[in-house]
Amino acid sequence: MSKAEFPSTSKPLPAPAMGEPFLLTPGPLTTSLETKQAMLRDWGSWDADFNKATAEIRQQLVQMAGVNDDSYTCVPLQGSGTFSVEAALATAIARDGKALLLMNGAYGKRAAQTLDYLNRQYIFLDKGDYLPPQPDEVAEILDKNPDITDVFLVHCETSSGILNPLKAIADVVKSRGKGLIVDAMSSFGAVPVTVDEVPFDVLVSSANKCIEGIPGFGFVIIRRSLLEQAQGRAHSLSLDLLEQWRYMERTGQWRFTPPTHSVVAFHKALEQHAAEGGVAGRHARYSNNRDTLVAGMRAMGFETLLEDAWLSPIITTFFCPAHPNFQFKRFYDELKARNFIIYPGKLTIAESFRIGCIGQIDEAIVNQLLNAIKQSLHVMGVDDCSPAEITKAS
Ligand SMILES: *Cc1c(COP(=O)(O)O)cnc(C)c1O
Repeated sequence: MSKAEFPSTSKPLPAPAMGEPFLLTPGPLTTSLETKQAMLRDWGSWDADFNKATAEIRQQLVQMAGVNDDSYTCVPLQGSGTFSVEAALATAIARDGKALLLMNGAYGKRAAQTLDYLNRQYIFLDKGDYLPPQPDEVAEILDKNPDITDVFLVHCETSSGILNPLKAIADVVKSRGKGLIVDAMSSFGAVPVTVDEVPFDVLVSSANKCIEGIPGFGFVIIRRSLLEQAQGRAHSLSLDLLEQWRYMERTGQWRFTPPTHSVVAFHKALEQHAAEGGVAGRHARYSNNRDTLVAGMRAMGFETLLEDAWLSPIITTFFCPAHPNFQFKRFYDELKARNFIIYPGKLTIAESFRIGCIGQIDEAIVNQLLNAIKQSLHVMGVDDCSPAEITKAS
């Protein structure tokens, strides 16, 4: 039972530095040694070389979204991803505007909380823990509520791992002439989103997800004409995206102290992203991680929350086994002792846990993880991984 059964097939990525565990989490995640090494020096925020890195990052991110002219710009902003989402919502939605929030998890709910703080009007479609919002439902709501100005959608809802039907919803939103704000935090860089396919107005992501940088800042890719209309909308000095952009355009610098080490690490991470084949290359590696993970887990008797069609290559939710010896805390500790960090679940319907497929992880490492899971279950005395009866997504 404790014998390794999931073979290493490919040439493995190097292990993280000196005994660090692998982070099978949706960010912060395992970064490469090269990216870590980029942080081994200090930078002045006025320095021309540092500002060059900022400029290149902004340009490369806009290009990653399929933009080849100056109709969109990229504004990086200090803080975690949520800071950028808040700044983006405040910028994109006029003070007398009204948003439709499409929710199926924690990050959709967080957008509602944010709009409460911002004092913006909204209505929402809440699909619960894991069901996707459907394009025809969105069309119906928009047709019944002509005063809606903007629609907000989370691309990969990281709380379940579902990949929401972004393109189909974007088409509906655009056919009604509404603004589209996409939280692509956990998908950008690994799932293709380009303006020709998905006509978004605003897209938000951050440094420590699929581009495999470290935490420190987020970024907003935004239609320039929309940004230019945003005068007077911001509710906060430090989250004023328009001012951040103006200052950066004028001086090449960040408006307030930049997260210098995070910026240079991200610059290095972007080089590696390109070397891997860009979004397509990363999508291929993460998808293979997911396929290896899901097949291996199912072979042990685990069940996924989602049907295959909705599984993202970002993170997967598994139900906890109903076996009386299974306790998540113990499972977590056993895996940590074997050098893997997993992530608790966030469902209200059932006990669950999540395993990320992103970061410097490949098939060989996923197979090591599967062996570690097998060993952990063995020492816990869990010989049946089937979950309690639940109603599953379809
Ligand atoms: C990670 C993430 C965020 C931002 O979370 P922070 O903790 O503020 O970085 C927002 N939306 C989604 C979908 C995410 O996965």
